[in-house]
Amino acid sequence: MVLDPQTINNLIMGGTAWGLAFLAALWLSLILWTYRDISSRKRNPVTRILAVIIVALLFVPGIIIYLILRPPHTMEEEYQHVLEEEALVQSIEDPQVCPGCGRHIQATWMVCPNCHTRLMKACQECHQLLELGWNLCPYCGTPVPGMRERTHPEDHTNQPNPAGEEISAVKNETVEDEFSDFIHVVEKPEK
Ligand SMILES: [Zn+2]
Ligand SMILES: [Zn+2]
Repeated sequence: MVLDPQTINNLIMGGTAWGLAFLAALWLSLILWTYRDISSRKRNPVTRILAVIIVALLFVPGIIIYLILRPPHTMEEEYQHVLEEEALVQSIEDPQVCPGCGRHIQATWMVCPNCHTRLMKACQECHQLLELGWNLCPYCGTPVPGMRERTHPEDHTNQPNPAGEEISAVKNETVEDEFSDFIHVVEKPEK
């Protein structure tokens, strides 16, 4: 089988054309890919145009340069990273551990179940949780008996619970007095 020079020439021409077409498609694809990739990493339009120009001018070496210089994370990855950091900072600011034994506790616990350290106290009036250092309930304004016993002569006991019972007993009396007064007032016109 003998090929004449014209056929060989045609084959070389065809091969070259196919190669050029492939290179052109590859070049366009790389430019498109670079544009998409840089768009997910940078919002700055100048940076995007520069990346596309580098790849368009330098072709495959340009892609290598781009891969070396491109920002390591996409904007979505950076956003996730920021969220993770915020969660970490919050967990550091709000440790929620027992001051006695260092175990994890919940904000609503009054006593540590592990070492029995007193964590919070309850308001005698509205039963909201108060920090141990507070001497006044911020929810209802009731003074905390255990903290005010030295300034109030009517509190004789050291333990907060009997003092609380005393206060509630006093309050019940006044309520009953008011109620009897009310009954008295209501009954008076009938008599
Ligand atoms: Zn503890
Ligand atoms: Zn209260």
